Amino acid sequence: MNIELNEEIRALQDTVRRFAQNEILPRVAEDEEKHLFQKDLVRKMGELGFFGCPIPEEYGGSNLGFLAHAVVTEEIARVSGSLRAGFNMQTMGTAREIYQFGTEAQKRRYIAPLVSAERLGCIGITEPNAGSDVGSLKTKAVKGNGGYILSGSKTWITFAQVADLGIVYAYTDPSKPYKGISAFIVDLHAPGVRVSSTAAKMGWNACPTGEIFFDDVEVSADNLLGGVEGRGFEQVMSSLNNTRLSAAAGAVGVCQGLIDEAIKYARERVQFGQAIGQYQMVQEELARMIVETEAARLMTYRCALQKDAGALHNVRETVMAKYYSCDVASRVADGALRILGAYGYSSEYPVERLFRDAKLYQILEGSANICKMIIATDALGYRKANR
Ligand SMILES: Cc1cc2nc3c(=O)[nH]c(=O)nc-3n(C[C@H](O)[C@H](O)[C@H](O)COP(=O)(O)OP(=O)(O)OC[C@H]3O[C@@H](n4cnc5c(N)ncnc54)[C@H](O)[C@@H]3O)c2cc1C
Repeated sequence: MNIELNEEIRALQDTVRRFAQNEILPRVAEDEEKHLFQKDLVRKMGELGFFGCPIPEEYGGSNLGFLAHAVVTEEIARVSGSLRAGFNMQTMGTAREIYQFGTEAQKRRYIAPLVSAERLGCIGITEPNAGSDVGSLKTKAVKGNGGYILSGSKTWITFAQVADLGIVYAYTDPSKPYKGISAFIVDLHAPGVRVSSTAAKMGWNACPTGEIFFDDVEVSADNLLGGVEGRGFEQVMSSLNNTRLSAAAGAVGVCQGLIDEAIKYARERVQFGQAIGQYQMVQEELARMIVETEAARLMTYRCALQKDAGALHNVRETVMAKYYSCDVASRVADGALRILGAYGYSSEYPVERLFRDAKLYQILEGSANICKMIIATDALGYRKANR
């Protein structure tokens, strides 16, 4: 497997890196502090094609593939976790999900506006009593008025307050655990939809997170994803298998951002008459951060390349990349904080913000434990991961 980036992806990486440096970096600290969601920036990212890599051209994408998607995601996350979120809200959990499972009419109607970020998307899986255990969700869609009547609520939904539409998972047949779940493309401006913000978060404050309540919302039968009931669990697992790649790439990105800051500081900070970078213990910390990040990057790229080669069900390799990268992000954040000492603990330097960005990766898109469970049960022969 050749893991080198080709010229096209390198050029895209340069473009995204410049965008992140010029357009995001100057405002990210203030946006995080004041909880400002920059819709214009997300829109610009859409117009520049950042969300379209794993989407064919006929639906508004660039067809550059999953590796390109991972590289773009990494560059944005290097500067801002909040703006990284768009790669799942606009692409993996919505546009790509519709591309993989939607009817032709659904693909024509919904994918292009998501990829261009003309319309913002969200993913509605989690509920107050359904976190890791997706099958225990309670939201229901009952047949009625020629379509479905949706009732229930979702929580911890990224972009809830700003999204125009969401892929919402609900039971159409609650008598069938897992197999009775279906997915719907839901207009979030429809009557009966209410949103509110979740409690204050530790980080990712420039990215809105909210609850969505569905009070007997009418959803057309045309908006049942793929037009078939009961495929929701398969669809949500497939969605997670793509959103986990973005999470892994985001974790690699934040690691790189932390390493950049640690190197800069270690070269500048003088103690006992020389730069702290001259001390072997600081070098050891930095070397560990760099090696672990590179290993995480290689696992992430391998997973993306497998998908590019058509192995879309590479669950084992995806959760390995997700688990490892997201755990490494916390270790790298810890290392960077040590290298910066008091200044790492201060909002004067970006490490404090990046540290908070890093922690979320262990929770999202399947916690570290859930990923380890999938890896181990596969190894033990209890449940095959790649089916
Ligand atoms: C900022 C933010 C944004 C989010 N955005 C979205 C979004 O856009 N859409 C969406 O649907 N959800 C979203 N989520 C929810 C997220 O996906 C869930 O938090 C995640 O699935 C974990 O669920 P939970 O937090 O309820 O933890 P729980 O499932 O309650 O788990 C708590 C702890 O128990 C462990 N645990 C649970 N089950 C097992 C087990 N079987 N074996 C071992 N350990 C276990 C977990 O690993 C974890 O450590 C978001 C969350 C956050 C914080």
